[in-house]
Amino acid sequence: MSAMVCTDCYFAHHYGAHEHDGEWFAGESDSPADREPLNKLAGYDLADDTDSETGDGIEDFSWSSCDGCGSLLGGSRHRLAVFETVTPQ
Ligand SMILES: [Zn+2]
Repeated sequence: MSAMVCTDCYFAHHYGAHEHDGEWFAGESDSPADREPLNKLAGYDLADDTDSETGDGIEDFSWSSCDGCGSLLGGSRHRLAVFETVTPQ
């Protein structure tokens, strides 16, 4: 399974995200994310699935909704590999 996620979710995957005064910030970004990054993928293991040399897995611009947070804002999309986590019984 894979997901196409917005820049905020992509940064949140690599650098984490934090909430401040009800707004979410991914990585070191000063501008708030549209919504909580990666909230739709909580509970899954994620891995970067892009190739910056070939551009594989990277869309420069898309209006498709982000698979990570549901944002409808246009922007670049990055592909993440999504793995089901095995929950210990
Ligand atoms: Zn997103």
